[in-house]
Amino acid sequence: MIPIRYVEPVFRPPSEAESLILPVTDGCSWNECTFCEMYTAPQKKFRVREEDEVLESIRLTGERYGDQVRRVFLADGDALVLPTRRLLNILEAIRTHMPAVRRISLVLPATKLEEKEPDGNQRTGGSRLEDGLCRG
Ligand code: SF4
Repeated sequence: MIPIRYVEPVFRPPSEAESLILPVTDGCSWNECTFCEMYTAPQKKFRVREEDEVLESIRLTGERYGDQVRRVFLADGDALVLPTRRLLNILEAIRTHMPAVRRISLVLPATKLEEKEPDGNQRTGGSRLEDGLCRG
């Protein structure tokens, strides 16, 4: 069993079928797209997870599966809402405890697009954040 606390239902893009789903938030910070009901359940009300919980999940998952994990998806709907310092700590913990990881991904609400770098990506210490895009 993966030592990560999941709040159901858990969603991920089809492209993340092989990825470890790592929740750093629950729900979506926007949550107003009329076609989307992914995060409307009460238990998916938006909140940022405690840093200690996320880092401990990474450490424990690394202990058990560290050399098997190649991809990580930062869930739920808007991981970039985290301060840069916290994102960097997460990336560093993944690098330390899951050294086989080659890709880290997340999705980005369309409302946040203007806040992104011009090339749509951020590079941090050799890891790459690829942004999927919720269009609503
Ligand atoms: S931004 Fe994405 S996850 Fe959030 S409500 Fe819209 S489609 Fe759903």
